[in-house]
Amino acid sequence: MVPDYHIHTVLCKHAEGELDEYLLHARRLKLPGMCFTDHAPNPDGYDPGNRMRLSGFPRYQEMVSALSEDRNLPVLFGVEADYYDGCASFLRAWLPANDFDLVIGSVHYIANWCFDEPAQTDVWNSVNVVHAWQVYFQQLNRLVDTGLFDIIGHLDLPKKFGHRPADKDVKEMAQPVLDNIAAKGMVIEINSSGLRKPVREIYPSPLLLALARERRIPICFGSDSHKSREVGYQFAASLEMARNAGYTHAVLFSQRQKKEYLLPEP
Ligand code: ZN
Ligand code: FE
Ligand code: FE
Ligand code: ZN
Repeated sequence: MVPDYHIHTVLCKHAEGELDEYLLHARRLKLPGMCFTDHAPNPDGYDPGNRMRLSGFPRYQEMVSALSEDRNLPVLFGVEADYYDGCASFLRAWLPANDFDLVIGSVHYIANWCFDEPAQTDVWNSVNVVHAWQVYFQQLNRLVDTGLFDIIGHLDLPKKFGHRPADKDVKEMAQPVLDNIAAKGMVIEINSSGLRKPVREIYPSPLLLALARERRIPICFGSDSHKSREVGYQFAASLEMARNAGYTHAVLFSQRQKKEYLLPEP
């Protein structure tokens, strides 16, 4: 198995369970590592319903550091930080001031629309899907440009409810962003949570993963757990997908430095 680098906690207000239960689940699966990456606080008031407050951040640090040490299963400390217009003024100082092992950068909004929120799916029926995806990839490109993040979260999240342009359009809009990701030395995650969503597909699609592989963009693995039993979710499928795309290695993180490891045998 491989480490799970995308795990939420109850502090974000839409996940459940004790951190011990997440750790226990990781031990049962014999995962070689895990990283908590809860939704980062944004003191400017951005999307407060889905994240801890800045005043809750010390509690997050305590909760993760209180987990019992296990030589075979290092527990890393990270965050999933949203990219949006104006986020950098806080993140530029705050991310380096904290002892993160890794930082996932994600885009969950197109303008004021939280496009991956189940309660806002009807908006998908009133927008031009191709245009919405284009705007999403433009935002992702800006995320990459900031240089603030280590890993791109769920690269093709707009497919979550099944709204997706033709392959040739996706390719055209994604390629410049993938070139940028490669140039910046960023990592993409193989995020299995898409298998639990209406699209029933890992993020990113095999098409996008092949384009990432062509550019030698490194990968890591994440379940995007919001419940303890989701840790390591469908990692056999994620691994198979990585191998099918031609990947032989993935990366480990520590103190925001990455190191390659050989993928386990099937
Ligand atoms: Zn979440
Ligand atoms: Fe996310
Ligand atoms: Fe997440
Ligand atoms: Zn997520």
